[in-house]
Amino acid sequence: MRYSANRKRHRKRVFMRKLFEYKEREHWSFSSINKYLNICSLAYAFQYVYRVKPEHTSARLIFGSAFHAAAEMLAEKRMHGKPEKAEDIKDYFSDTWLRACRLTENICFKGNEDKNKLNATGRSMLQCLMENWDCNERVIGIASAFCVPVMNSENEIVTELPLIGEIDCIVERPDGKILLIDWKTAAKKWADGKAEKDLQATCFLHAYHWENNVMAEFAFDVITKTKVPAYERCYAERTIGDFNKLARLVKTVGDAVNAGIFYPNEQSCFCADCCYADACKEWGTESLL
Ligand code: SF4
Repeated sequence: MRYSANRKRHRKRVFMRKLFEYKEREHWSFSSINKYLNICSLAYAFQYVYRVKPEHTSARLIFGSAFHAAAEMLAEKRMHGKPEKAEDIKDYFSDTWLRACRLTENICFKGNEDKNKLNATGRSMLQCLMENWDCNERVIGIASAFCVPVMNSENEIVTELPLIGEIDCIVERPDGKILLIDWKTAAKKWADGKAEKDLQATCFLHAYHWENNVMAEFAFDVITKTKVPAYERCYAERTIGDFNKLARLVKTVGDAVNAGIFYPNEQSCFCADCCYADACKEWGTESLL
C-alpha cells in the first residue's frame, strides 16, 4: 500500500474518535513500546500479555491524571478566550485528585507523601503552569487522539497493529509554527538531552505528520513537584529518519513479543515502584528442565 492512499483511507475511518475507542482493539502505544524497551520486558508481559492484576496503583499515576484534567481545563479556557480563574482550575484539580484517592484501592505513596501534601503540591504546580505558559500561543487542540499505521518512508507498514495515543495540547505559536505539548509532572527538572531522545515525542510527531502532512515541533512542559514548583519547556524535533527508526523499533519489539521474549530487568530504577513485584519474585523460580 502506498503512503498517500493509506492516509486518505485512514482519515475517513478515524475522524474525531476518542482514545478509549481506539483502545478497544489491539494496538501499540508509546507507553507499551516504552515499557518493553526502556522499563522492563517482564513488566510489559505482566501488563499486556499475561494481564496480571496490578498489586497497587502508584499515587504518581493518578496525581498525573488529575493534573492533566486541570491543565486541560486551563487550555480549554485559553482556546475559547474565557477568563482563567486560578482558584477554579486548582479546585477542579483538588476535586479530581481527592475523588480518585477515595475510589482507588491500594494506592502507593512515595516517601513521606500523602494525599493532602500532594493536593497542595498540585495546586502550586497549576499556579506555576498558569504563570509560565505563554498566553500568545493559540490553543487549537486539546486531548487530540490519534490512531495511525506504523510505517517507514518506503511506505512499508511494519506491523498490523496501529499506533494510538493522545496529544495533550496543540498550539499555534506566534510565528505560525505548530507545537504539540505534553504536560509532565516530575520530581525534579529533566536532565539535559532527555527530550532529545524521548520516544514519546517521536511517536506523537510521527502521528501528527501522518495525519496532517506537517512536520510539527514537540515540547514537554515539565512542572516539578518541588516545594516551589518550576516550569521548564523541553523542545524535541524529529526527522523522517527518526520515524523510520521508530518503525524499526516497533517491528523489533513486536517480533520479540510474538516470540515470547520477556525477562526481568532487576537493576532497573523502576523496580522500587513496580506493581508486579510479587509476580516478578515468582517468575523463573521453577526449573524448566
Ligand atoms: S520488579 Fe523490576 S524486574 Fe520485576 S517486573 Fe517489575 S520492573 Fe521488572
